Amino acid sequence: PDIHQWAAVDDYFGRLLAPQDTAFEQILQCNKKAQLPVHDVSAVQGKFLALLVQLTKASRVLEIGTLGGYSTAWMAKALPAEGIITTLEINPDHAKVARENWRNAQLDKQIDLHIGSALDILPTLNGPFDLVFIDADKPNNPRYLEWAIKLSRPGTLIIGDNVVRGGGVIDSDSSDLSVKGVREFMSLMAADPRLESTALQTVGEKGWDGFSISIVKNQ
Ligand code: SAM
Repeated sequence: PDIHQWAAVDDYFGRLLAPQDTAFEQILQCNKKAQLPVHDVSAVQGKFLALLVQLTKASRVLEIGTLGGYSTAWMAKALPAEGIITTLEINPDHAKVARENWRNAQLDKQIDLHIGSALDILPTLNGPFDLVFIDADKPNNPRYLEWAIKLSRPGTLIIGDNVVRGGGVIDSDSSDLSVKGVREFMSLMAADPRLESTALQTVGEKGWDGFSISIVKNQ
């Protein structure tokens, strides 16, 4: 099997289980038109995040790495009426596209966007968040994990995206800064007595990758 078949299966599951209304389709179209990198989650992954929001009954969500706001939109849509997702983006061009996308999808009232470097913004936020989705610059993942824990409560779910990197994660000699960042992130997660964690590999239209999933324990 190759990426074409993985993508075809994603398409099949996506059409069945994560059908997108026009507003969601438009987000991806607008991102493309604005020439944003195609680094958004897939539709089935977006639906997975939405289900996690529902499952944890999250009303305060934190996302690190907004891009065009596609994953933000999936999670925002799953929030209760009073719920808010706070999302952090360093690139003002990405942020502008995201804002427009959320307005078109009528989700903007439940989204709190902060523009700037996540490591500058995180110390200004008030926790606790119920769910944290880490999906920005991977070299900083170890720092993001520390902040996610600081801004958590027992039971908070912390999801890390792109932890497989086409298998690169097992290369302990890698000079790739993203691989190094993810490896340190995984080691910190494993060693941290406050967390219970696992990681799941995925294949699909985004290639071979995966998520880490941690729950913050009762201290
Ligand atoms: N979560 C998005 C989705 O699935 O639709 C995709 C996010 S994309 C993988 C990563 C984003 O993180 C990019 O838009 C990038 O500009 C942003 N980013 C990179 N470094 C950052 C930093 N230091 N602080 C905040 N955002 C950052």
